[in-house]
Amino acid sequence: VNQSKLRFFTNISHEFRTPLTLIRGQVDMLLQMQNIQPSVYNRILNVKRNTLTMQNLINELLEFRKTEQGHINIRVSEQDFLAFIYEVYLSFSEYAKYRAINFNFNCQDEKIPLWFDAAQMQKVFYNLISNAFKYTPKEGTISISVSEQAERVEVKITDSGVGISAEAIEKIFDRFYQAENGLQISNMAPGTGIGLALTKSILETHKAEIHVESKPQVGSIFTITL
Ligand code: ADP
Repeated sequence: VNQSKLRFFTNISHEFRTPLTLIRGQVDMLLQMQNIQPSVYNRILNVKRNTLTMQNLINELLEFRKTEQGHINIRVSEQDFLAFIYEVYLSFSEYAKYRAINFNFNCQDEKIPLWFDAAQMQKVFYNLISNAFKYTPKEGTISISVSEQAERVEVKITDSGVGISAEAIEKIFDRFYQAENGLQISNMAPGTGIGLALTKSILETHKAEIHVESKPQVGSIFTITL
């Protein structure tokens, strides 16, 4: 029953993709028009933001379905991991300003050559960082720290958010699991509970590890060792 439900949702989500792409195309065209009133422009921008959120949710579901069927393929090449993760950091920095979040990046190294699949690894860090934003209230702090030790690279994503209870922490990497804590933050886009399951399987395919420490009302630290 579970499998056929999942197949049904995957197929429907797939069907949602085409009309969404068309909506996005029209919205992009509207945004390029001259002489739009700022209030109208901002509304269209909101439509675009929500369209992107829906596209991301659908892509996540389709991606998850693939990993469930054992289709996760990685193509590794040697790249500068520091440049890669800094780029991910930058892509959230505007959003951090918008949410009035203190967003920091710390690293002592200048370059960290590493073998990894950048497209897959981007999903990992997008998930972890967007979770940090999702569960951290306005004026909180989120930090990304990267360090290289002998044969390992360690990335810590720390947030001063709602935290995770001891009972929930064991289950957050299970698919479809969502803890109660999310309800504490208003305005939060509803998740699917598959982000961390997907994150974990991509990391496992890379022979990397992920650990979490958290305290309710204090915050969480996700540590990834590559
Ligand atoms: P979701 O789509 O619900 O975010 P995830 O698989 O990414 O699904 O996360 C599973 C659950 O783990 C979330 O519903 C939330 O309860 C908890 N969680 C994940 N990251 C954090 C975080 N940084 N702070 C607090 N809770 C978190």
